[in-house]
Amino acid sequence: GFFLAERLLSQSTADWPVEVDMLERLPVPYGLVRFGVAPDHEKIKAVTRSFDKVASKPGFRYFGNVDVGSTVTLADLSAHYHAVAFTTGAQSDRRMNIPGEDLSGSHAATEFVAWYNGHPDFTHLEFDLSVESVAVVGVGNVAVDVCRILSRTPEELEKTDIADYALDALRESRIKEVYMLGRRGPAQAAFTNPEVKELGELEGADVTVPAEEAELDELSRKALDERPDRSIEKKIQILQEFARRERTDKPKLLVLRFLVSPVEIIGDEQGRVSGMRLVRNELYLSEKGTLRPRPTGVHEELPVQMVFRSVGYRGVPLKGLPFHDRWGVVPNEKGRVVDPETSAPLRGIYVSGWIKRGATGIIGTNKPDAGETVECMVADLSAGAILEPERPDPAQAEELVRKGRPAYVDWEKWLLVCEAEESRGAEADRPRVKFTSVEEILAALQKVE
Ligand code: NAP
Repeated sequence: GFFLAERLLSQSTADWPVEVDMLERLPVPYGLVRFGVAPDHEKIKAVTRSFDKVASKPGFRYFGNVDVGSTVTLADLSAHYHAVAFTTGAQSDRRMNIPGEDLSGSHAATEFVAWYNGHPDFTHLEFDLSVESVAVVGVGNVAVDVCRILSRTPEELEKTDIADYALDALRESRIKEVYMLGRRGPAQAAFTNPEVKELGELEGADVTVPAEEAELDELSRKALDERPDRSIEKKIQILQEFARRERTDKPKLLVLRFLVSPVEIIGDEQGRVSGMRLVRNELYLSEKGTLRPRPTGVHEELPVQMVFRSVGYRGVPLKGLPFHDRWGVVPNEKGRVVDPETSAPLRGIYVSGWIKRGATGIIGTNKPDAGETVECMVADLSAGAILEPERPDPAQAEELVRKGRPAYVDWEKWLLVCEAEESRGAEADRPRVKFTSVEEILAALQKVE
């Protein structure tokens, strides 16, 4: 949303003054940067400084605590704006579709991430961290984040902006073993090199890979010989170095596994996770030319009492917009929302970010993505293919929001909340101590206003 606003505002001229209103369901801004980026990755969060610069530009207004769909509708917005762009991300998770997925102790990694980051919708969740062994399914960067947070010492976590209740729960954690499970081989792992390397630098956890699973299979070797890729070679080097490491006296062990797929989560009599059945995979060359996993028929049982599926995020449908259910995105052409039947663009309606292209790429990937959408918006404006709002006056748009949500949070108010969080943090030598419910945020505002 901020990347889109930035690009739009940079197009502002005397003849074509641009004004951007950002509507956000939560009182607080930054979306995935606040609620998705891991608390121990403080540097990545520095991108909010450039978002703050966008917010301070003339022509930008922020309306927090405003739900598009209930507080205001798409029809309302169409009556006030020349264009509406949705940048709502991917708020749900993909499922594995195996038996036992709904047992107690089997969770979506996305929920755990939102919980430890203090997302108001997830604070009520409970994770039983009194267990000893945990499996994290998937080898993307989210799986790495979850494994790392589970493996960190309380002292490491205390320095971060992790939600207070999550810090307390993780302090009491009895977890000793964390397994990260990849269905394909090391060369196909979705995590990036700096992220996986960091797993080898944890204060309280050793990392290992079974030696035979760190080896390249013949097909992967051939593919790499034909199309050399230094980044993949480096990834394999990192994993093989992990495989050679000896166990030290660190209290936790993180095990990276490859070429295994969960086929069933096993439950005990109380309906709690008590194990996971895995099948060993081999790779084959698919018709599309990619290396895909297929089961060999060799099974094993992993003694775990908690499971996180971390097999990707997916978008959720938005009221009044078409939705591509299989891909979990709003159907679009370069950001122009299209009717899935006719492929005709819906005039003046756009998307950007994960709701446009799916949950791929790093935060910076959203910048060129937003640029592409803005190009379409500008071209449509030149062609006159935009909305024709009855009440385009910004004061009337503000009135609309105020009517639906008298206590909306504007940018100045957010800055007060931010300051209050930072000063709570300063007392504890942490970057900030987050408010984690809408009530708490609004109460904090009343106190400082
Ligand atoms: P991801 O990178 O797409 O990884 C998903 C993982 O799940 C892959 O290893 C995939 O394996 C596996 N998977 C999918 N279906 C599976 C199944 N049925 N059984 C077993 N494994 C399955 O997604 P993500 O980790 O959720 O991350 C989303 C995006 O955010 C990514 O672009 C990521 O890089 C980014 N991100 C970046 C950072 C960072 O920069 N620090 C942190 C967090 C997230 P296959 O490859 O075999 O399909």
